[in-house]
Amino acid sequence: MARYTGPVCKLCRREGEKLFLKGTRCSTSKCAFERKGYFPGQHGKNSRLKLSDYGKQLREKQKLRRVYGLLEAQFRLYFERAERMRGITGENLLVLLESRLDNVVYRLGLAASRNAARQLVLHRHFFVNDGLVDIPSYQVKPGDTIQVKDKSRKKDVFHSSLRRTKDSRMLPWLDLDKAKLSGRFVESPKREEIPVHIDESMIVELYSK
Ligand code: SF4
Repeated sequence: MARYTGPVCKLCRREGEKLFLKGTRCSTSKCAFERKGYFPGQHGKNSRLKLSDYGKQLREKQKLRRVYGLLEAQFRLYFERAERMRGITGENLLVLLESRLDNVVYRLGLAASRNAARQLVLHRHFFVNDGLVDIPSYQVKPGDTIQVKDKSRKKDVFHSSLRRTKDSRMLPWLDLDKAKLSGRFVESPKREEIPVHIDESMIVELYSK
């Protein structure tokens, strides 16, 4: 499926905060938001946006969509699916997004960013349980094991990414075995366990208009 291929740092500047879309670079002084923390464009430096309620809701939606690297149509499908599920729609939406295979690979620390994880999945480096999966949007279920396939285990991309992953930062709903380059999606995350700073209720309000 199609995806955004333009300059990603511009997206952080547009949203007025770091979205951590570029992996390691995001935590260095090379981060564009650190150097140019104003809106992109010719008049970006002088822009002072006063947002309406609709504007705020729209920004929350765009931010979340960009964090997970989705286009509008894909994002809308996730929302519709979240609406059909039992429970709170906004939370369901986040759980669905967090359960994407590319996100789980990123959260396990096997890739430096979601975008890198997506590439690795597309290049057929992962098994989910016993089957090879090359679909970044594949929904991982509680109890599933995600493992780098044997032929790919020597690739430095996994080891260099894991070297930067601190065990203390592993999320409670994931379990990582660094030696085996394998992880388990233990259970669906609860809202408070998802480190995404977003007000998802605004997105629900936006789509309910
Ligand atoms: Fe955003 Fe990362 Fe670019 Fe900084 S380096 S602006 S956090 S994508």
